[in-house]
Amino acid sequence: MLSRTQFTVKNFICIIIKLMKRKISILGSTGSIGRQALEVIEGLDDKFEIIALAAGHNTDLLNEQIRKFKPKYAYADDESKIFGAKYITLDEICSDIGTDIILVAVSGKIGLKPTITAINNGIDIALANKETLVMAGDIVMPLAKEKGVNIIPVDSEHCAIHQCIKDISQVEKLIITASGGPFLHKSVTEMKNATVEQALAHPRWNMGRKITVDSATLMNKGLEVIEAHHLFAMDYDKIQVVVHPQSIVHSAIEYVDGSVIAQLGLPSMHIPIQYAITYPERYEGIKSKSFSFSEIARLDFEEPDWEKFKTLHIAYECGKLGGSYPVCMNAVNEEAVFAFLKGKIKLFEIIDTVEKMLELHKFIQNPSLDEIFEIDKEARAKTLELLSN
Ligand code: MG
Repeated sequence: MLSRTQFTVKNFICIIIKLMKRKISILGSTGSIGRQALEVIEGLDDKFEIIALAAGHNTDLLNEQIRKFKPKYAYADDESKIFGAKYITLDEICSDIGTDIILVAVSGKIGLKPTITAINNGIDIALANKETLVMAGDIVMPLAKEKGVNIIPVDSEHCAIHQCIKDISQVEKLIITASGGPFLHKSVTEMKNATVEQALAHPRWNMGRKITVDSATLMNKGLEVIEAHHLFAMDYDKIQVVVHPQSIVHSAIEYVDGSVIAQLGLPSMHIPIQYAITYPERYEGIKSKSFSFSEIARLDFEEPDWEKFKTLHIAYECGKLGGSYPVCMNAVNEEAVFAFLKGKIKLFEIIDTVEKMLELHKFIQNPSLDEIFEIDKEARAKTLELLSN
């Protein structure tokens, strides 16, 4: 039996441990990144307290997660299907409810507004949502700077660069690696006639369907170049893409003196997720095995095939033009990828569609947030119209 003093001390320690835990909310907890983030958190359960979980329609899994991780709040598209946590909106999750960091792991433009709310509330962001920076990097990054908010990238390439950079003013260029996807050494004809299954058979990474198709066309790398430009305030001319099929070197930077620093690791999303949500601390976590150079044996690098992967060129051009171009490119690409996944168009038609729609695009130099959503909506509608003909 505990004495009264022992009981009080034990209670006091429990309170201190609870206070020391980092309070986290996850937007997109049932998606690929969200599920892996919960695996990371499970391995570090003395370090985190989950405040809120948000999902879309997968309420079965969300409720399972609620039972296991006991968040106070939850969001799902259908409020009535949440059990065991209080329903709040995405925007409320990003408001002042005691969260230290929010992992934005939803896919698509739905992540943008809540992220801005979180930044306005001074909450740090672990960012796994590409659209936030591709669509509104010029709004999001200055706002984060103004509010003193950290945006820690989850994407393995940007996470690698984040780990390599000490002083951005001394960096000469960013070197982003690309695995090359399933069509790296396939002919243009083979790629043109690719089935959905072939496009989804990524050789290295296990990801969601949309991003896997983007990896097959290399549009994913194009989006990452735009993200890197915003995250690290780097000119497009100083962002280089190199194909590295083994996905061991996750990206690198070259300093002005010619020194190159790269971040290496086994291709597991657990590592960058954990880095982003525990930054600046590091823990052993759920690391499955130690890194061994001799087991890796070789690392290959090659120039991307700009002819075959035209998307990369398109993304650089849109990024350099800036303003509304990346918004339009992203929206058209997403709709075209969905059409490909439904078997309505061929893989190369994704690229043709993006090119066609960009030619028709009416440029806006500095779109506001409302204009960004409007451009996105219009580009999607016009893409669907084009694809239905
Ligand atoms: Mg990536």
